[in-house]
Amino acid sequence: MTGRQLDLFPADAGVQPGVPLRAPEIPLIPAPPAILPLRPDALPAGTRWREVALDAQTLGFLLRRSRRKSIGLVIRDDGLLVQAPAWSTLPQIDQVVRDKAGWILRKLEERAERLQLLALQATQWRAGGAIPYLGVRIELALDGTRAVRYAGDADAPRPGDILSLPLPEDADADRIRDSAGAWLQQRARIDFGRRLDRFLAAAGQSLEGWGLSSATGRWGSCTSDRRIRLNWRLIHFQPPLIDYVVAHEVAHLRVMNHGPAFWRELERLQPGFKAARDTLAQHSPDSLPLI
Ligand SMILES: [Zn+2]
Repeated sequence: MTGRQLDLFPADAGVQPGVPLRAPEIPLIPAPPAILPLRPDALPAGTRWREVALDAQTLGFLLRRSRRKSIGLVIRDDGLLVQAPAWSTLPQIDQVVRDKAGWILRKLEERAERLQLLALQATQWRAGGAIPYLGVRIELALDGTRAVRYAGDADAPRPGDILSLPLPEDADADRIRDSAGAWLQQRARIDFGRRLDRFLAAAGQSLEGWGLSSATGRWGSCTSDRRIRLNWRLIHFQPPLIDYVVAHEVAHLRVMNHGPAFWRELERLQPGFKAARDTLAQHSPDSLPLI
C-alpha cells in the first residue's frame, strides 16, 4: 500500500517508511462569499432543479414553466429562477443560461454579499442571536436552570429552532460562544460519524480512526494509515457540503492523489458532487462567523 502510494508521489520518495503520507488537501480559495446556490431541500411550487456546467463552475437554478413568450431570468434570495415558455427545450434553456452567465454570476455575487452581511449581523453571542447549523439559522436562548437542550430535531433542523444553553441570562459573549461551540462539536461528532459510516460502506473501505479538527485552512485530511480528520466547522453547512468533504476523504482511502481515478471514485460515492465542491471552494474555515 505504502509502496504504491510512494510511486504516486515521486516527490515524496525520500519519506521514511512508517511516516503516513497525507493526501492532498481540499483546495481552499479564501474570502469571496459562496455565490452558487445549492439545490434547496424543498423546491418552490411549480419549479424543478437544473444544473448547467459553465467554464469553471456548475450553476444550479430553479426552472419554472410559464405562459411567457420568452425565457426570463430572475435573481432571488434562493438563487436564480429561470422562467421559460412551455415550448422551449432544455438545451435552449441551458444555452440562455450559458449566454447570460456573466450577468448571472455578477448578480449572484451581489446577492451573496448581501446575504452574508445579513448573516454576520445576525451572528451575535446573545440570547436571540442566530448561528448557522446544518445550513439553517437556529436561535440561541439562555436558560440557567437546565442542561443544553435543542427544541426541534437536531438531525433535521428547521430555521428558527431554539438552542437553549445552560447559562445565566447575563452570561458574556465568550461563555455563550464556548457553550454553543461545545454543542456544535458534539453534534459534529455524531453527524459526521454517520456520514462516514455511510460512505465507508458504499466504498467498501474501513478506517483506523477518525477525529474532528479545527485546522485553519483545511476542511479534511486523510493519511495513508487510514485516518481521517474532519473540520468540525463543517457542521455549519448544508448537508451536501459536509457529504462532499466526507466522501472526498473516503475516496482518498482508495486513491491518494487527485487524478482521474480519484474523481471517478468520488462521483461513484457522491454523484453530482461538483456543485457542492464549487460552493465549498468559495468558503474558508477562517471566514466563518464563529469561534
Ligand atoms: Zn483531496
